[in-house]
Amino acid sequence: MIKVKKIISGGLEENCYAVYDSESLRAAIIDPGEDGKKVIFEIEKDKLKPELLINTHAHYDHVLSDDQIRFEFKIPLAIHKYEAQMLARDYGSGSGSIGFTVNVREPEILLEDNQKVELSFTTFKVMQTPGHTKGSICLLFDGFLFPETLFFREQ
Ligand SMILES: [Zn+2]
Repeated sequence: MIKVKKIISGGLEENCYAVYDSESLRAAIIDPGEDGKKVIFEIEKDKLKPELLINTHAHYDHVLSDDQIRFEFKIPLAIHKYEAQMLARDYGSGSGSIGFTVNVREPEILLEDNQKVELSFTTFKVMQTPGHTKGSICLLFDGFLFPETLFFREQ
């Protein structure tokens, strides 16, 4: 059964989510935000086994601990192809405005609108929803929709 764990990450109170299978404990992490240490703690506490990191968009409050999470769990990063360019530019990510830089290594996986992504425990669909940023995406899992910043359950 697919479940969702919400982790509030950092002083910016960014919402990180772990989507996971309650039997295999295989997981995907969405937008780890600022506090990578807390995200790692919460993932390990529940013995989850992450296999993919996904960013809904590249604003700094969502991506600050990307590399920490990738290094800890040895997992690739997936982001919409338009946002990949933003990751590489401090001002694009919004971080220039608050006076520090965000260094996120190049993503391994570039997503496109309507793409179906297969994980070991489920699949999800990428829905590009430009507006907040050009390459913002919503992620449609079975029974769950993850918009860029909000969260709700279908049904
Ligand atoms: Zn944003």
